Order: sequence, then structure tokens, then C-alpha cells
Amino acid sequence: MQRVCVYCGSSAGWRAEYGQAAGMLSEGLASHRLGLVFGGGKIGLMGVLARAILARGGEVIGVIPRALQEQGLAQPELTKLRVVETMHERKALMAGLSDGFVALPGGLGTLEEFFEILTWAQLGLHSKPCGLLNVGGYFDHLIAFLDHAVQEGFIDPAHRALFVTEPEPQALLDKLAAYEPPLVDKVQWALGGNAGLE
Ligand code: AMP
Repeated sequence: MQRVCVYCGSSAGWRAEYGQAAGMLSEGLASHRLGLVFGGGKIGLMGVLARAILARGGEVIGVIPRALQEQGLAQPELTKLRVVETMHERKALMAGLSDGFVALPGGLGTLEEFFEILTWAQLGLHSKPCGLLNVGGYFDHLIAFLDHAVQEGFIDPAHRALFVTEPEPQALLDKLAAYEPPLVDKVQWALGGNAGLE
């Protein structure tokens, strides 16, 4: 891996440990010699993470829609800022520039971006590693819900294995580096009796 895409909140959350985790992730990326690809914003955890990496002299590529850039929301002094016209273009470019994906705590945008990249993985559109940084148990309920969806027959267990989780950034990056993609075939799984169409 050369670059990791990190999806994270445009808010910082109430607890200090979220910002601290972003700082620790910057250390982890530096020790693994990994560059960052992110949404380009200066606010919330996005800004905390980008500034921490820039302070270490690391590579930070932001990908931001023009409308957000024109509102002055881009983080200054990035290694590179790619300005795009649409959100769809943004997410495709972020994915193409990256060799793996991490979600830090965040809100709707973070969840949408992470789930989109997982759905691309389950369709076999990429086989890059994906991980949730479960800071202070932030994602516990989400992970429990996904396990429930497996039990209820809506997620193939092989697709549940498309992402890893760890509470500590170093351990998560180690898992991403060691990741072996499972064999996935969404269409066959659905046709094998889980489509619910018969
Ligand atoms: P959220 O988790 O809802 O705060 O959304 C954060 C995610 O959505 C980030 O990963 C960004 O890619 C994108 N995003 C949302 N708001 C902004 C913003 N003001 N500036 C840049 N990116 C944003």
C-alpha cells in the first residue's frame, strides 16, 4: 500500500479521544510510510488528521467538490488539492488514488462513503482492504447491526469479512497490510437462495 483513504467526520465529536485517535492515526500512517487521501476539508476530524500528517511532513491529498472549496472549507497547504465538480466524481477519484480505506468516527457522510466502498468490494469492483477504526467503541452498535444483518440473511458472511476493525490505529493498519480479500460473488450469493424472489 502507498496511500490510504480516510473517511471521517467534518465534526470532531464531543470526546477528546476522537481527536487523539486522529493524531495516533497520523503516527501510524507515518510509520507505515503511507500517504493520506481524504475529503480535503479543514473542519472536524478531517482537519485534525490532515494537519497532524502535514506537521510530520507526510503526503496529504485532498479531493473536494468545487462548491465546498468556494465556501473556504478546504484545508490549506495540502500536498495536493484536487477540485472536482460532483460528489460522485470525488468518491471515484478518492477510491482510485487509494490502496486501502479507513473510517474514523464520523456522521452520515463518513458512513455513506465507507458503505459505498464496501458495496463496490462486494461486487468485486475492487479488492482493497477496508477498516473501521473503532475508537472508544464508537462503532460497536453499527458492527452489532451488521452481524444481525448476516444472521437475518441480508449480508453474506463472506461480505461481512470485507472489513476489519480495531480500536488502535497501528493495529488496524497492520491488519490492512496483512489483508487477504475473501472470494466474493454477490450475484451468486443472492441467486443461491438469498434473493428472496422465489
Ligand atoms: P460527516 O461524517 O457527515 O461529517 O461527513 C464527512 C465526510 O463527508 C468526509 O469524509 C468528507 O468526504 C465529506 N464531507 C462532509 N462535509 C464536508 C465538508 N464540509 N468539507 C469537506 N468534506 C466534507
